[in-house]
Amino acid sequence: MKFYNTLTRKKETFKPIKKTEVSLYTCGPTVYNFAHIGNLRGFMFYDFLKRVLLFNNFKVKHVMNITDVGHLTSDSDQGEDKMLKGAKREKKTVWEVAEFYIDSFKRDIKKLNILKPTFFPRATDHITDQINFIEKLEKKGFTYQAGGNVYFDTSKLDDYGKLSRLDLTVEGKARVDKDPNKKNPHDFVLWFTKSKFQDQGMKWKSPFGTGYPGWHIECSAMSMKFLGEKIDIHCGGIDHIPVHHTNEIAQSEAAIGKKPWVKYWMHNEFLVLSKGEKMAKSGENFLTLSKLEEKGYSPLDYRYFCLGTSYRNPLMFSFEALDSAKTSLKRLFDQVLEIKTGKKVSANKNYLATFTKEVNDDMNTAKGLALVWELLKDGSVKNDQKYATLLEFDKVLGLGFKDLKKEKIPKEVVKLAEERLQARLAKDWKKSDDLRDKIAKFGYSVGDSKDGYELKKE
Ligand code: AMP
Ligand code: ZN
Repeated sequence: MKFYNTLTRKKETFKPIKKTEVSLYTCGPTVYNFAHIGNLRGFMFYDFLKRVLLFNNFKVKHVMNITDVGHLTSDSDQGEDKMLKGAKREKKTVWEVAEFYIDSFKRDIKKLNILKPTFFPRATDHITDQINFIEKLEKKGFTYQAGGNVYFDTSKLDDYGKLSRLDLTVEGKARVDKDPNKKNPHDFVLWFTKSKFQDQGMKWKSPFGTGYPGWHIECSAMSMKFLGEKIDIHCGGIDHIPVHHTNEIAQSEAAIGKKPWVKYWMHNEFLVLSKGEKMAKSGENFLTLSKLEEKGYSPLDYRYFCLGTSYRNPLMFSFEALDSAKTSLKRLFDQVLEIKTGKKVSANKNYLATFTKEVNDDMNTAKGLALVWELLKDGSVKNDQKYATLLEFDKVLGLGFKDLKKEKIPKEVVKLAEERLQARLAKDWKKSDDLRDKIAKFGYSVGDSKDGYELKKE
């Protein structure tokens, strides 16, 4: 298995710390608003990765955090608290806002066939772990207090910024937002005590004063709590490379005194709009999964759409492209239903080997999907074996082939089709055409087949 490691900028052979179990941490949602379909692309990337690991017979211990505190509107410890902003907008408490969007997020990932994480911790349920973590850093001399906040001192590390290959020259540092409290421009807040907002919705007592944690600390603290000091894989979107993940590495490696904290860093590229515009949670341009459903798309149409492009390439969204994914998925489901059998046969070894090779190559789901179509067309493979092989592929694709059911055609439609068949046998073409139109009104198309007729849902 090979994965592209952002840390080394190379595709590397995957060698986990333990032989049979993989520890995986994926940065989860911030819950001050709905997840948009760009976010969901990221969460599907985590799912493809996890499914590929499971497909290779690894056990996967997966943590995904829920950021319900401490995430500001700017990456540089400035700007408004996003949770508070959401609460003001919706005239709710920050806690109600979090509950609402967590529920909505869970519904979205279920609809997209995303496997549940092993642990799904909320940052606010682990404040003590975060405080303990900061105290550990304090004891080791990596922190200082200024302006009421606790900061991480990045100058204490010799390799700060290695993930993003940060420019730490004088010119590079000059480009970072100025904060008079900071000793070094890249230092970051571990604990805020001087909240900029009088009505700060979430605050806790700590040895550093009453306040709330900085955004990065939750991931280090919760990763170590659930997965141990060192882990195999950590994921997120590419936007996390320069600040969030860079700072997670700094504080984690400082705390454990060992390197590397994470063996493989993997990042998904963005979903972009046709205009080249980035879809952002704080912007107004965002589309949710529910909006797609309202427009007549199923969540799996979107999953199919995402499978078609490598997670490392930007994915251009347009409704035309989604339409084409929808049509292909419908065709695929129809064909799978046609070959579906209850017979237990083994999968085709050659196809399975090729599929494994493709998905093990940095999760080339696009090639995996292409192989599905190749297999369906292949006259040399029997239908029951095709079906068995597709069920294996679906362990990675997650399109739910096993649960597909033939739709029961309403009795009225069958009756009309029978009448049409009789009309055709009597060469009454006018009546046959009229009956075809009537059938169409029920949302079915009728065609001729060697057994008489074939009905299909449009
Ligand atoms: P957020 O809830 O805004 O913190 O974002 C959750 C995840 O979605 C993060 O890992 C982001 O990197 C990722 N993300 C945000 N915008 C996009 C986008 N347009 N396309 C793909 N991933 C995104
Ligand atoms: Zn994180």
